[in-house]
Amino acid sequence: MNISENRYSNLLKSKRIFETISNVGNEIGQDAFVIGGYVRDQLLNRETKDIDIVAIGSGIDFAKKTAKKLKSSPVKVFKSFGTAMIIVDDIEVQFVGARKESYRSNSRNPKIETGTFEEDQKRRDFTINALAISLNSKDYGQLIDPFNGLNDLKNKILKTPLDPNLTFSDDPLRMMRAIRFSSQLDFKIEKETLNAISKNADRIKIVAQERITEELNKIILSKRPSSGFKLLEETGLLKIIFPEFQLLKGIENINGKSHKDNFYHTLKVLDNILPFSNGNLWLRWAALLHDIAKPNTKRFNSTQGWTFHGHEDKGARMVPSIFRKLKLPLDNKMKYVQKLVLLHLRPISLTNESITDSALRRLLFEAGDELEDLMTLCKSDITSKNKEKKIKYLNRFENVKEKLRDLEDRDKIKNWQPPIDGKEIMDTFNIKPCKEVGILKRIY
Ligand code: ATP
Ligand code: MG
Repeated sequence: MNISENRYSNLLKSKRIFETISNVGNEIGQDAFVIGGYVRDQLLNRETKDIDIVAIGSGIDFAKKTAKKLKSSPVKVFKSFGTAMIIVDDIEVQFVGARKESYRSNSRNPKIETGTFEEDQKRRDFTINALAISLNSKDYGQLIDPFNGLNDLKNKILKTPLDPNLTFSDDPLRMMRAIRFSSQLDFKIEKETLNAISKNADRIKIVAQERITEELNKIILSKRPSSGFKLLEETGLLKIIFPEFQLLKGIENINGKSHKDNFYHTLKVLDNILPFSNGNLWLRWAALLHDIAKPNTKRFNSTQGWTFHGHEDKGARMVPSIFRKLKLPLDNKMKYVQKLVLLHLRPISLTNESITDSALRRLLFEAGDELEDLMTLCKSDITSKNKEKKIKYLNRFENVKEKLRDLEDRDKIKNWQPPIDGKEIMDTFNIKPCKEVGILKRIY
C-alpha cells in the first residue's frame, strides 16, 4: 500500500482494520474517514470500544467489501438507517454513508439524505464528536477538524458544532448525551449550549424511553454521576424524565425546624458508594432510590419534628413502577434494588440493646446474598454534617458489623461437622459406643 503517513496516523491503532479500509476505498474509488468516539477517545487516551466509519457514497457496499477482505463476521445491515456493522478482532466497526439530516418537528426519526462529508460532520452532536481522521491514501492520518474540536478537547468543553438550539431541537437526545459526556469525561458544557438545553428540555418528550434510559444509565455509571444529576436538575430535564427524583429536592421549615434536602443527600450517598460499586449499576440504582419515598411519607409534628416513617417500605413498593416507566429490567435486578431499598435502615436501626442474636439472624436471612451490598449502602447513607451524629451512626454501624461477623463465626463452629461419623470409627476400631469415639471424632 502506498500511503503518505500523517501526524495522526499513530492514533489508527488497529492497523489491519484501518489499512484494509483504506485499500478498499482506493479500489472502489470511495473516500472513507474514521469519525466521532474513536478519534475523541484516542486523543484522550481512553479505551475505545467501537469504530465509526463514514464512507462517501454507500456505507453498506463499503462494509461488504471490507468484510470480505478482513474475513470478519457477516455484515449486519440496518437498511432503514443506511448503516452496516461488522465485528473484527472483537471490535465493532460501523459503516455509514455520509449524510445530512433533517428532522420534522414532532418526529423521533430523522429524514436521511445523502450528503457531503462536510455536511456529515455538521450533523454530529458536539465539536469533539465531529473530529475525523482521513483513511484515504492521499492524506492517510490527516485530522479533519472544521469546528476546532481539538481545542475544546484540550479545554474540556462540550459545545455543539452548529447553533445549539438547532442541534438539540433536531434530536433532543443530544441534550442527554451532553450531560452524559460531561459526567463521563469531566467536561464543562459551554454556556450557550447549556442554555439551549434548558430552553429545549421539553422536547425530550419526543425521544423513545429506551434511548433516554440508556443515557441515564451511562450517567449513573460515569465517573461523576452526581454532577450529571445536578445538570439534569438545573436544565429542567430531570423533572420530565424522572419526576420522582426531582421531588426529593427542597427543604421545608416549620417552627424553625427543617429537614435535610434529600436530593443532595441522595447524591452524596451515590458519591460515597462509587468506589464500592465499580460497574455495579444496580447498587448505584439502589443508592439513588433508597429515600425515594421520603416526599410521600413526610410528616411534621411538634414533638418529633420531621419524620419519614415507612419510607423504606413505601420506597421498595415504588421501585417496580419506576422501573417499568423507565423501561429498566423487571427481573432479579429490580428485586435486588427493591430489597436494598427495603432494608437500608435495618443495620443502623439496631442499637446495643436490640442487637440480639435473633435480630441479627433475621437480618442475615432477609438480606441473604445481598448482605455485603446492604452494609455498603448503609454505610454510604451516613452523610450527616453533624459530627457527633456521624460518629454515633458510624459506631453503631461498626458495632453491628462486628456482631454479625461474630455470629457468623459462632454459627460456623456450631454447624461444623467432623469428616467422619461415630459409626465409621466404631466399625474401624471394632469398639462399642464409648467416650473414646467422641475423642477420636474431635481429633479428626
Ligand atoms: P460512546 O460509544 O462512548 O457511547 P460515542 O461518541 O462513540 O460514545 P456513539 O453513540 O457510539 O457515541 O456514536 C458515534 C458517533 O456518532 C458520535 O461520536 C457522534 O459523532 C455521532 N452521534 C451519535 N449519536 C448522535 C446524535 N444523537 N446526534 C448527533 N451525532 C451523534
Ligand atoms: Mg461509540
